[in-house]
Amino acid sequence: MNVDYIIVGFGLAGLAFTEQLERNNKSYLIFEDNSQNSSLVAGGMYNPVILKRFTPVWDALDQLKIAIPFYKALEEKLAAKFDHAFDIHKVFTSIEEQNNWFAACDKPFFADYMIPEIIQNANDSINAPFGFGKVTNTGKIETQVLLKRYKEYLIDKNQLLYEKFEYSLIEFADQLVNYKDIIAKYVVFCEGFGVKKNPFFKELPLQEAKGELITIHAPELQLDYVLKASLFIMPLGNDYYKVGATFNWTDKTLVPTEEGENELLEKLKKVITADFKIVDHVAGIRPTVKDRRPLIGKHHQYNQLAILNGLGTRGVMLAPKMAGKLFDFLENETSLPREVDIRRFIKQ
Ligand SMILES: Cc1cc2nc3c(=O)[nH]c(=O)nc-3n(C[C@H](O)[C@H](O)[C@H](O)COP(=O)(O)OP(=O)(O)OC[C@H]3O[C@@H](n4cnc5c(N)ncnc54)[C@H](O)[C@@H]3O)c2cc1C
Repeated sequence: MNVDYIIVGFGLAGLAFTEQLERNNKSYLIFEDNSQNSSLVAGGMYNPVILKRFTPVWDALDQLKIAIPFYKALEEKLAAKFDHAFDIHKVFTSIEEQNNWFAACDKPFFADYMIPEIIQNANDSINAPFGFGKVTNTGKIETQVLLKRYKEYLIDKNQLLYEKFEYSLIEFADQLVNYKDIIAKYVVFCEGFGVKKNPFFKELPLQEAKGELITIHAPELQLDYVLKASLFIMPLGNDYYKVGATFNWTDKTLVPTEEGENELLEKLKKVITADFKIVDHVAGIRPTVKDRRPLIGKHHQYNQLAILNGLGTRGVMLAPKMAGKLFDFLENETSLPREVDIRRFIKQ
């Protein structure tokens, strides 16, 4: 079998690159072994404001300009709804934080997103004596729905194989790659934290940033926006809420832990007073890079091997733009922005 591309991994990175190939009429085959799940457990939020410091997310407006129409087009293509707009209410912790909010609102970057007023809390189930700041024009991609629908689409076309990609079976021939009975021009690796097992790219400085989330049922809470305090509380409908997330920089497993749950409960009980029941608890590893920028490029020795990784905590906004950059680099010989090019980590 001859294809233009083999893609290894079908999370947000693999999906965004697949869509580039579809739009450009390239042939491809995808391998997915369910060894990682970051994209499946993600909160899926997109928001250009860092709510700890009221500073801009790197490159956020340009990423959103590409991401929003990208997901809109996919909703049409897959006949599914997974992009949900919502507002975020940031809980202020002090007068000083309120003042910082107004100072940030004056900056042109935030004009479309941060509302320059303090919203008083009228919900008895929430502790917010200093009120809220509202961020608008944000939302979430329901990644589970998006990935499920896209996988069904691919299965119908026989372009997704649920099997582990075995690195040791790659053979190089001229400008091509042989893998089992497949001949491809490129292999694009999109394995998230799974790249640590990839002998060609495992030296890249990807760090494990394990995150845990719980889902709660809280009928009295009555939120119709995302509440952001030291954690976020995201309404899912029918009185269910997603609550997260933790950061653990040493645990490399996908197992939800008691420690993670306790941390979330402790923070949650500081913000809400309503009764709740935990109904689910999940964990995943964010593929995070030392300098907090993506990892894109070609292997320094094997031209046929490329990577799209390092989406960190913001895969939803980053994946569409980064997939486009990688595609243009491979097919149209455009150069990659220095800050995302993996060559920044190759010692000269
Ligand atoms: C708790 C949590 C909350 C998050 N919340 C948000 C959020 O609100 N907004 C946001 O934008 N981002 C969020 N993220 C981050 C986001 O999930 C990541 O940036 C993104 O999912 C990374 O996508 P990926 O495709 O690179 O990796 P992954 O989703 O890990 O996908 C990699 C895929 O490759 C497969 N794979 C690996 N090795 C092989 C192999 N050898 N053969 C075949 N298949 C292989 C894996 O099974 C996996 O499906 C969150 C992450 C976590 C953990």
